[in-house]
Amino acid sequence: MTDCLFCKIIAGQIQGRFVHEDHELVAIRDINPQAPLHLLIIPRRHISTLNDLGPHDDALVGSMVRAASAIAKEHGYADDGYRTVLNCNSAAGQTVFHIHLHLLAGRGLSWPPG
Ligand code: 5GP
Ligand code: ZN
Repeated sequence: MTDCLFCKIIAGQIQGRFVHEDHELVAIRDINPQAPLHLLIIPRRHISTLNDLGPHDDALVGSMVRAASAIAKEHGYADDGYRTVLNCNSAAGQTVFHIHLHLLAGRGLSWPPG
């Protein structure tokens, strides 16, 4: 997608350091962090919202979750705990329409979320 912020970051058209990258995913630091560690785990392939996922994406979504868990562990948050969030559409506050898994860690996170 030419008009997508995350596609541009993944293509290197916008400066940004990847905290993690592999053949199907990248992870970047959120520009407006809500916790000491706030990363976005983003598939390289453009998918606008969770509503656009099909059965052929099951492995990709599994990889996103497993990447979040591995990165949290690398940063020393596996035992204390961390939160992963997937926002879908406006009521949940999705602002970038290329799916991404938030990984938040390093502070107490209240429940229910806002
Ligand atoms: P959403 O609200 O769609 O679930 O999350 C989008 C996230 O992307 C927000 O937390 C926002 O701070 C982050 N974000 C927006 N623009 C940029 C950017 O240019 N670079 C990075 N690294 N994060 C961004
Ligand atoms: Zn995109």
